[in-house]
Formats: sequence, C-alpha cells, structure tokens
Amino acid sequence: MSRHAKTLELTLAILKPDLMSNIFAAQNVRQRILKNGFYFVKTRNLHLTTSEAAQFYGEHEGKFFFNRLVTYMTSGPIRTHILARDNAIKQWRMLLGATKVNKTVYAEPDSIRGEFGLSDTRNCVHGSDSPATARREINFFFPDFNIEMWMATKQNFFL
Ligand code: ADP
Ligand code: MG
Repeated sequence: MSRHAKTLELTLAILKPDLMSNIFAAQNVRQRILKNGFYFVKTRNLHLTTSEAAQFYGEHEGKFFFNRLVTYMTSGPIRTHILARDNAIKQWRMLLGATKVNKTVYAEPDSIRGEFGLSDTRNCVHGSDSPATARREINFFFPDFNIEMWMATKQNFFL
C-alpha cells in the first residue's frame, strides 16, 4: 500500500430546499464538493414528510426553532449525498460553515452557508457532526447501503 494512501471517511450531506430551488447555487455547491476532493458515493432526491423531518432532527425537539426547522425541511425537495474523503466529516463541516448565517461573525463569508444561506434556519446545507451521527444519518436516508461492506471493499477503488 502506498504511504500516501489515506483512509476514506463517509459523511452525509443535504442540500436543503432553499438551495435546491436555486439552480445556480446548487450547481456551485456541487462544484465545490468536487473541487475539494470529495467523491459522490450515493445520491438521493426526495421530499421529506413532516414525521421524517421531525425524526431526522429529533435531537432538537423542544427547542424554539424546531417547528420552524421541520416546516423548512418539508417545504420542497432536498438532495442527500453520501460523500467520501479523508477526514470527510470535519472537512465537509468546514466547507459548509457555521450554523448561523445571519451574522457575518458566524458563518465564514466564503463558506457555503456564508454565501448562500438565507437565515439561521434556512442555512441551505447539512453535514453530519461526528462519526456516530454520520452512521445514523447515512442509515436514515440510505437504509440499503452497507457501510461496513463499502469500507471493506469499494473504498479501495478510490485510493
Ligand atoms: P448544524 O446544522 O450546523 O449541525 P444544529 O444541529 O445545531 O446545526 O441545528 C440543526 C438545524 O437547525 C440548523 O442547520 C438550522 O437549520 C436550524 N437551527 C439551529 N440553530 C438555530 C437557531 N438558533 N435559530 C434558528 N434555526 C436554527
Ligand atoms: Mg447538527
């Protein structure tokens, strides 16, 4: 094995409804993903139901923005990707920027959220925040995707 070989990590990305309704922004995000060395492993377009959105964001139930978040996430189609890269979870979070976009001190101006996010809630993209979350979120959107199998076999094609 080459000493340059890196272990690929998987993360779950979502292009949220506001981004999907802006062809220019969606295309720009796609290019950023590729330019930053991520591979598209799986892609799924869907429109979340209220109960699916509430389940996906279950950790935020009871918070003041929860209903707003669920309404937003069900307001139009979304696109989910399983992305692969070395250090994918952290690198994708860095590329998308901080959660809040409506204050310049928060989402970095050249981050995806800084550039295309509309408000604290409508912040246009999602990324898993830890390996355990990535696993749960990949299983949520891609129940037939076998993470172990992919790690053991398919990822060799990318090294
Ligand atoms: P992240 O998406 O960066 O992991 P969180 O997990 O904390 O952020 O929140 C999930 C989503 O809920 C955010 O992406 C955003 O859409 C919304 N949200 C989070 N915090 C706020 C807030 N203070 N006000 C409004 N919406 C929020
Ligand atoms: Mg989160």
